[in-house]
Amino acid sequence: MIRSKWDQRIQRADELAATNETATGVLRFYKRLASLQKDLYLFFQAANNCSANKHVSNLREAELNLPVLLPKFPDFLIDLKTFATRPFADAAQDLRDKGESGWRDALTSVWQNATDFSPPDADGLLAWIFLQPYAECFANGVERTPTSAAAPICPFCSAKPVVGVLRPEGDGGKRSLICSLCSTEWPFGRVLCPACGEQSVEKLAVYTASQFPHVRVEACDTCRRYIKTVDLTKNGLAVPLVDELATIPLNLWAKEHEYTKLQPNLLGI
Ligand SMILES: [Zn+2]
Ligand SMILES: [Zn+2]
Repeated sequence: MIRSKWDQRIQRADELAATNETATGVLRFYKRLASLQKDLYLFFQAANNCSANKHVSNLREAELNLPVLLPKFPDFLIDLKTFATRPFADAAQDLRDKGESGWRDALTSVWQNATDFSPPDADGLLAWIFLQPYAECFANGVERTPTSAAAPICPFCSAKPVVGVLRPEGDGGKRSLICSLCSTEWPFGRVLCPACGEQSVEKLAVYTASQFPHVRVEACDTCRRYIKTVDLTKNGLAVPLVDELATIPLNLWAKEHEYTKLQPNLLGI
């Protein structure tokens, strides 16, 4: 039986939490979060919101289904609060207390501004976490032809990439990017900054740390942005979205060197 993407993420978080002392707390939190998102994904899938939209070629064209989303959102916030630490837990309670108009504002704001979601405010981050499986359900439900264009934003939903991937191809690795909202993966040039389009090798720095040989920081000296890339040619067991979360020392290194992350992950990091 093929494990779902959600089960792969949950299992990988479990494995890494046991071996990676610098990120145990983050990974245990993410594991609970991913379980919650998996339940939402299955709910959205069962509500037939996703596969009914095969004709949608870009998520921007899809209306947010508020009659399905709004009743689900307060329960999500309370569930999240049961295992979140402060200030996440407080933010979830505050948003819960805002009532339906506040929930509507948070959800529609994220949906309409997916391209510019950085840096996140607390309400926006909670709405993003909630809408991520909704967007992923759409992305998995549509029939698309693979894109060969090296777009810096997601070809399906226009959000920025949260992590890069190197997959085995020939003697090297083929690079792609994974969307921060709908998790669509699309091809992208290896020597190309996804923030500003810089193509000069001298301006594009790569940093790795011995404790995570399969994860690299790809930084641009022109725009001072960076993205992490998970190299599956070095570790075929890695799950990019999870290994990205588990490598916090790389974020600290980048910050010390005055690079800003292209897109914060689900935890706002
Ligand atoms: Zn996307
Ligand atoms: Zn750049």
